Amino acid sequence: MNFNLSSGLKKATVLLGICLLPLAIMIIGCAAFSSMGRLADYDHPLVIETAKLSCASSTQDLNGLGMEKLATKKNTSVIQLQIGLVNLYIIKGEKSILVDSGWPGDTQAILDQLKAININPKEISLIILTHSHMEHFGSTADMRDLTGAPIAIHLEDADCLKNGVNSSIKPRSILGHLLSPVLSRIGKSSMRAVEPDILIDEKMDLDPFGVQGYVIHTPGHTPGSISIILPNGDAIVGDLMIGGIGGVFNQRSPNHHMFANDPDAVDKSIQKIMGFSPKRFFVGHGGPLSPEDVFSTFIGG
Ligand SMILES: [Zn+2]
Ligand SMILES: [Zn+2]
Repeated sequence: MNFNLSSGLKKATVLLGICLLPLAIMIIGCAAFSSMGRLADYDHPLVIETAKLSCASSTQDLNGLGMEKLATKKNTSVIQLQIGLVNLYIIKGEKSILVDSGWPGDTQAILDQLKAININPKEISLIILTHSHMEHFGSTADMRDLTGAPIAIHLEDADCLKNGVNSSIKPRSILGHLLSPVLSRIGKSSMRAVEPDILIDEKMDLDPFGVQGYVIHTPGHTPGSISIILPNGDAIVGDLMIGGIGGVFNQRSPNHHMFANDPDAVDKSIQKIMGFSPKRFFVGHGGPLSPEDVFSTFIGG
């Protein structure tokens, strides 16, 4: 396992900070950032294969993105890699795309989980970063070295990747306010800077990378947050929303993420995603979430 001493010391500092918080917050904080404490059981990755849904059923909703031309092609499946309580994903089509790269130092855990699902890192055709927060893009440089795959990130989050720094965080809940001092320290963690290969603007077609689907811009959590829409009805939305409380408790229950750079933009992005009538939401922490629950939480409630 790769272990960076400087990163380890910073993570230890963060844990000390968490210990100063009330006990309940400490539990949530430790779990939410459990890749620091290596609470994860890497031997048993959570693997969720999509049901082989007919693409045609969702084609009508996705026509605006040209999904109709994909309806006759092979189905796409999503495999969840759980590194602590941070979710990474493999989108498997004719080729495989990795979504997010975990914390700095998570490379070996990712490789272990890829091995468990029989995916050779060299088979990965693209690495997409949902946004520029450390637990989602921290091991990007190592994963590019290992896979040789190009890196795609939205242009508004690209500078953080280029400079190896965390995107700023703005709390939108009590938990967010309590954890923001800790996260501010995490934001100063070290990660290898990476020059992205592909800058995403409003949308990106994944077909050239062997996967049916599109990336769309869903800002709010960070300015350059993106989501991925697949023609089988799956949506990978990163930290646009979160499963449960801090991604720890009641994980299948949709909730606003505790941090949002622009809460109004988050709400608009959720509405944008709902316009594609997803059948399942995969999130950065917790989940997966049902569209009925997402609707009642953010739209109908
Ligand atoms: Zn985030
Ligand atoms: Zn996150």
